[in-house]
This record gives sequence, structure tokens and C-alpha cells, in this order.
Amino acid sequence: MADAEHRPTNFIRQIIDTDLASGKHSSVQTRFPPEPNGYLHIGHAKSICLNFGIAQDYQGKCNLRFDDTNPEKENVEFVESIQRDVNWLGFQWDGAVRYSSDYFEQLYGYAVELINKGLAYVCFLNNEQMREYRGNLTQPGKASPTRDTSPAENLALFEKMRAGGFKEGECSLRAKIDMASSFMCMRDPVIYRVKFAHHHQTGDKWCIYPMYDFTHCISDALEGITHSLCTLEFQDNRRLYDWILDNITINCHPQQIEFSRLNLEYAVMSKRKLQTLVEQNVVSGWDDPRMPTIAGLRRRGYTPAAIREFAKRIGVTKQDNVIEMSALEACIREDLDAKAPRAMAVLDPLKVTITNYPAEGIEWVESPNHPKDDTMGSRKLPFGPVIYIDRADFREEANKKYKRLVLNGDVRLRNAYVIHADEVVKDSEGNIVELKCSYLPETLGENPADGRKVRGVIHWVEASHAVPAEFRVYDRLFSVANPAAEDDFLAVVNPDSLVVKQGLVEPSLQQAMAEQAYQFEREGYYCADNRDSNADKLVFNRTVGLRDSWGKEEE
Ligand code: ATP
Ligand code: MG
Repeated sequence: MADAEHRPTNFIRQIIDTDLASGKHSSVQTRFPPEPNGYLHIGHAKSICLNFGIAQDYQGKCNLRFDDTNPEKENVEFVESIQRDVNWLGFQWDGAVRYSSDYFEQLYGYAVELINKGLAYVCFLNNEQMREYRGNLTQPGKASPTRDTSPAENLALFEKMRAGGFKEGECSLRAKIDMASSFMCMRDPVIYRVKFAHHHQTGDKWCIYPMYDFTHCISDALEGITHSLCTLEFQDNRRLYDWILDNITINCHPQQIEFSRLNLEYAVMSKRKLQTLVEQNVVSGWDDPRMPTIAGLRRRGYTPAAIREFAKRIGVTKQDNVIEMSALEACIREDLDAKAPRAMAVLDPLKVTITNYPAEGIEWVESPNHPKDDTMGSRKLPFGPVIYIDRADFREEANKKYKRLVLNGDVRLRNAYVIHADEVVKDSEGNIVELKCSYLPETLGENPADGRKVRGVIHWVEASHAVPAEFRVYDRLFSVANPAAEDDFLAVVNPDSLVVKQGLVEPSLQQAMAEQAYQFEREGYYCADNRDSNADKLVFNRTVGLRDSWGKEEE
């Protein structure tokens, strides 16, 4: 992996350097702790690259641990997709996949320890009462009526909770901390609640489930995590994290360090909102190529390298920030510019008959696969008397700025000849249905002998070998930069976020495989859709345009 000089530096790595230098730790152990209640998104990728990247660079270890304490919202599909996505991004966790639910028995034991120490009690306030008793930032809370119940009594009640003796919402186990704390999370937080829910890992074994704050710190400690990296919304909860570990018998106390979340313009990142998009059929699924999910980005044609590079560029700080979509797009464009072979695709075909070309003739013209990289080789493209060009590449009249084909003008066909537009054929409604052109036979790889200047180059495909293809041209899913700030984020979905076109591609693309990127000359970067494309029907997704032209006028 990255050698020392090329490693990212950030405040978290500085803390780790200090801890290793001082001997506080001799090695680094991190973890990535997703809740399996949705697919991973680009924000998670930031956390994955941080946690796994640190483990790699420091020869440490990184665990994958499912934080699975909300069985009703979680499922095995999410568990599986998360593992697939972490691997796809290029990372491998240490040892087996872990689950917080692996520790349910130990967690129960620690809750019993708190009860025995007089530091936890069973509370019978309902949700509304609990809110009322909690107080607010200016007013201290007041004690629950059962706050001072004896440990023996609490122990019996807690055992009864586990045995199914109470209904959901009837009672909860709370840590006894400080009802006047300026940190609301310290005002006797609930650490266990009753829930008669089937769990994807533990089945029906439990009808009480530990809360996140209680579970997370103990799971970290049981796994010997040295640095527990999380996002800023857990800053206050660090008090609770430390309080729990300080008050139970456990010989490890990880350091929680918070960093800012990734926010991306024109995207929503909360799993709840992403789930809504899926459920309301605004998108075709979690892996819809417009989704900011890892699965969506993969299907769109993003590469793991581009996502890792993006994570590196945005860095890790404590400042709240919103990253421009163009920053993500720049990463994939740079990666694909170097890696993607060039190919010909016509998205909006216009028939061109070359009247002076032999009627039955086909010749094969040599076409480099990459203009800047000879090692990518070349292929032979068929050329013949009927070809297709893109409708946008022809105009009957145009000013000098228009460098494509104009009636009575010339243009070069990429990797082939110069043609001259002689005649426009229209249907009864006046729509252009065909062009009649002539070609200049001596112009294969040569300028016209008569000295005329040909400034434009356009792409094309030969008719008899062309393969029909569907093109899915994607744009931003939302029409405003910060959809999450809207009252109804569904109201600002961009109606043109997907435009489907039926066109043609060169014959070599008949075998296009998903995750093989192409640069369709002059169109953008595309890849075959990993669900819908097959040899009978090619479907290509636009990964990204050739340039950052969003919000700018077309020339
Ligand atoms: P959501 O906001 O969608 O509910 P979450 O934070 O609850 O997300 P988790 O599955 O708990 O999702 O996240 C796993 C890890 O990924 C956590 O450590 C979390 O801090 C981190 N993470 C989640 N979203 C982002 C983000 N936008 N930027 C950076 N890290 C993130
Ligand atoms: Mg979370």
C-alpha cells in the first residue's frame, strides 16, 4: 500500500503516531461498524477508507462489525451487500465478520454488573414521561420514581424483562448517571429496551435489546479496538462511551475520536431518505445508478480506485463540509481517461449515404484504442457506403463556431475519411431523415490534397455492422444542491435525471462486459449495465460526461 511519503496525513493519524511513539499502543486496531439497515453510501466509503486505510498503513487490523441492535430495521440482504461493497472497494477485514449480537450475552452480563453496583435501574416511565422527566438544556431533569430501587430488586426486574415478563414500552433499563448533566445523553440513558422482534442473527433468543451507546463501546473494548473513529454527531456521547467502560470490569478502553461526515451536493445521504427513494420507486433500487450508494456507483461505472482517490482528496477533519459533486466526478473522469478504451457509439443516429463509395464495399480501418496509450492496442472498424452519425453533429446552416458537419461543408470522420455534405433528405413533415454525402478517397490519415481545411472531427458507426444499444444518460438525482434541507426532498427530484436513448454501437462492443468502462468518443464514459445488458440487448450507463459541463450552456 501507500509508502510513508504518500500516506495521507490528518489529525487522527497524528494521534495514532503519538500513541505509537509514546508506547500507549504497540499496534493499531480499528473497526468499521455499519448498521445493516441499508446499503452503504459514499459517506460510508469515507469511513471505510479511513478505518481500513489506517490499518493498512500502520500494519494494523480493521474489523468489520455489524452494529445490529435494531432487528426490525435490519436484514440479511443488507448484511450481504455491505460485505460485498467493502470487498469491492478493495478492503478485507481481519478474521471473521463480527456482529454486536455476538456479544449479547456478555452485554447482558455487564448490565447486571451495573445493576449490582447500583449504577443501573429498571424504569417504568413511558416515552412521554421520560421526555418530560429528562428536562432540557436550561432545566435539570428529575429522578424517575424507581431511580433508587435496590440492586436486588432491579436484578429481579431485569431478569423478568429478559424472560419476557414485560410488554414492549412497559419498562426499560437505564444507567444511573446524572439527571442534571449538561450533556443530555448522560441523564440516565436507556441501555436496554423490551422488543419482541426476530433478529437476523440471534433469531428469537432475545426479547430485550441493548441500545447503541451501551453496545458500541463494549463491543469496541471486547475486540481490543485502539482507536474508535466515528462521526461528529457522537461527540457528546463520548462521555457516555467513557462512563460505561469506566464502570464495568473490562481491560480495554478504546479512544473515541470524531470526524466530520461527508455531505455531497445534489445527493441525500441518510439511509432513511435513500430507503424512501427505493420504496417510493423514485429510483429502481438501492443500486440505481443515480443513487450515491456504493452499489449504485458501481453500476454507474465508478471504479474502486476513483472512490478511494475521492476519499483521499476530501481528507478527514472536524469541520462540517459539503463537497461538490464535481469533485467526485473529477476522480472518475481522471481514472477512466487513463484506463478506458475508446469506442464509437451514436446515441441519436442520422443515416448518411456516401454516394461515391462502392455500393457493396466494406473496408476495415485501423483505430487506436487509446490516443495516448499505445499499449492498449488498436481494433479494426468497418467502414462502408452507409454510416450513422449523431443528429447533433449536422446542421443545414451554422456559424463558424460550429465545427461539425454543415450542408455543403466538410468534416472528418474519426479514424476514417473526410466527407462532404451534398444533400439533405427530408420526410413529408420536413424532418431530416438522411444525408447524402461524398467522401474524399485520399483522406484516410491524410489531409485533403486540394488544401481545403477540415476543422471538425465527428464519430460514426457503419450501418451493416452496427449493433443496436440502449443508452441511459444520467444526471443529478436532485435539482437543488441541498435536497435534505427541503421540507419534502421528493419534490426536488430532477425529472431529467434519467434520459433513455436508443442508438447504435460499433460491433466490438457486442461483447461488452459490465464494469468494463469505455469512452464513447465525444459522448462520455459508459459501461454496460450490470443488470440489464446482455448479448441480445446492450444497455449502457453513462458514468460521467467528458467534461464538467453541468450548469453550463452547450456550445
Ligand atoms: P445514516 O445517517 O444513513 O443513518 P449511519 O451513520 O447511521 O448513517 P451507520 O451504518 O451507523 O450509518 O454507519 C457506519 C459508519 O459509517 C459509522 O461509523 C458512521 O459514522 C460512518 N458514516 C455514516 N455516514 C457517513 C458519512 N456521511 N460520512 C462519513 N462517515 C459516515
Ligand atoms: Mg449509525
